[in-house]
Amino acid sequence: MAISNGVDKKLNTLTAHELLDKLKSGGISSEDIFSALEKRIKEADPKVNAYVRNQVQLPLADNRKNITGGVPIAIKDNICTEGYNTECCSKILEGFIPPYDATVIKKIKGSGHAFLKLKTNMDEFAFGSSTENSSFGLTHNPWNLDYVPGGSSGGSAAAVASDEAIWALGSDTGGSIRQPASFCGVVGLKPTYGRVSRYGLIAFASSLDQIGPITKDVRDCALLMNIIAGYDPNDSTSVNTQVPDYTKSLNSGIKGLKIGIPKEYFVEGLDPEVNSAVKEAINILKKLGADFKEVSLNHTQYAVPVYYIIATAEASSNLARFDGVQYGFRSKAANLIDMYKKTRGEAFGEEAKRRIILGTFVLSHGYYDAYYLRALKVRTLIKQDFDKAFQDLDCIITPTSPSPAFKIGERVDDPLKMYLSDIYTISANLAGIPGMSLPCGFTKKGLPIGMQILAKHFDEERIFSLSFAYEQNTEWHKMKPDFKP
Ligand code: GLN
Repeated sequence: MAISNGVDKKLNTLTAHELLDKLKSGGISSEDIFSALEKRIKEADPKVNAYVRNQVQLPLADNRKNITGGVPIAIKDNICTEGYNTECCSKILEGFIPPYDATVIKKIKGSGHAFLKLKTNMDEFAFGSSTENSSFGLTHNPWNLDYVPGGSSGGSAAAVASDEAIWALGSDTGGSIRQPASFCGVVGLKPTYGRVSRYGLIAFASSLDQIGPITKDVRDCALLMNIIAGYDPNDSTSVNTQVPDYTKSLNSGIKGLKIGIPKEYFVEGLDPEVNSAVKEAINILKKLGADFKEVSLNHTQYAVPVYYIIATAEASSNLARFDGVQYGFRSKAANLIDMYKKTRGEAFGEEAKRRIILGTFVLSHGYYDAYYLRALKVRTLIKQDFDKAFQDLDCIITPTSPSPAFKIGERVDDPLKMYLSDIYTISANLAGIPGMSLPCGFTKKGLPIGMQILAKHFDEERIFSLSFAYEQNTEWHKMKPDFKP
C-alpha cells in the first residue's frame, strides 16, 4: 500500500473536489478526466471486473466532448439510465434498456456532471454481500485480488478504490453501500430513508432501499449528496424537507458531540483487528473533544432474522413482474404458463430463487401472522431502540462489518454465514436512519477496516461533521492499493 501524496498527478487518482478545482482554474477539461478513466479501466478492469458489459460499452459516454465542467460518476447496474443497459446483473433483465432516467441520473445531468454509461457490477438484484452473485462474474477486491470487495455494491466500491472511478453511486438495503465501502477502504453513505429519490432504482425491498454515494473522501461524499438529495413527487416515500448544503457541516467541529457505543456490537464474533481499529478511532475522537458513553440497543440480536423476513417478502413481490413478458430475457415455450416458468427458472440465479421462495413463504396464508407480521412488530422495537438512544446522543459508532473482506468462495455456499456479514448495518435500514462507513485502519494483511457512524433521521450533517474531523486527523483515506494490473 502507498500513500498518495499528490505527486502522482494522474487525473483518475484524484478526488472529485480536487478535479473540480482544476476544472475551475481551466487547467483541464472533463474530456481529460474521461480519457484518464478509460485508460485506467482498460488496464485495471480485466483484473478487478468492477464494470459490466465493458467490451461493448466503451467509450464511457457518447457525447463526452460536449460535457464540460463535470466529474463523471459511476452508476450501479440497478439504477435506470435512459438508453443504456440496466440489468441488475441478472440474466432476466438481459438487454433491458430503460426508457427513462432515474431521478438521481436526472439530477446528475442537471448539475452539470456526467454519468458513465458503463455500469458497475453488483450481486444480482442486490442480493448479497460479496458481489459473487452477479451474472457477469465476480468483482475482485483491489487491495487483494483473492478477496471479495463486499456487496452488493462491490463494483462501485472496487471502481473507486482502484481509481477506475472518481466517485460512484450504490444502493443500500441492508448494508450494500457501507459494507463494500469498508471492505475496499472508501467512504460510503446510506442516507435517511426518504432523503434520496428511489424513482428509477430497480426495487429490491422498497421499505429499505436507498441510493447513496461511494467516494474517496468525506468531502466528495457531501458534494455528491448535494447533487442527489431532495424531494421527488415521483417517489411517494421521498420526504419534502429542505436539503442543507452538506459541505457546510464539514467544518462544524465535534467538541462536545455526544456519541454512543452500543454494547451489543462489541461482542463475540467481532474480529479482534476490527475491534482494535474502531477502538483506536474512538480514542482519536475523544482527543478531539467528543464525549462517549455506552448505550444499549436491546433488540439488536433480532435484526438479521427480521431483515431476512421483511426483505425477502418485499423482494418476492417486487420480482413478480419479471416474467418474460415485459422486460429482458424470455425463454421459448409452448404456452404462456410454461413460458413464465421456464423464463424464471432459467434466468434467476440461485440466491434470487432462494429469496423469492423464502419471501413467498413468509407472506403465505397461515404463515403471514407468524413471520411477516411479527417481523414488522420487532422492526418497530428496533426503531424505538434508536429513537430512545438518540434522545440524548448525536451519533452512534460501531464497526461497519464484524470482519474485514473475506476470501472469494469462502461464504458463497453458506447463505447463513453470508447473511451475518450485515449484522451491524441492517438495523439502520430497518430504522430508516442514515449511516456512513469510513476507513479507520488496516489489518496486518493489508485489508481495509471501516467504522460506521449512525445518526438520527435526516441528521446526515452530524455524520459529516464527525467523519470529516476524523478524516482530517488521520491518513487512511490517502492510502491506495498498489496492485499491478
Ligand atoms: N447483504 C444484504 C442482502 O443480501 C444487503 C444487500 C443490500 O443492501 N442490497 O440482503
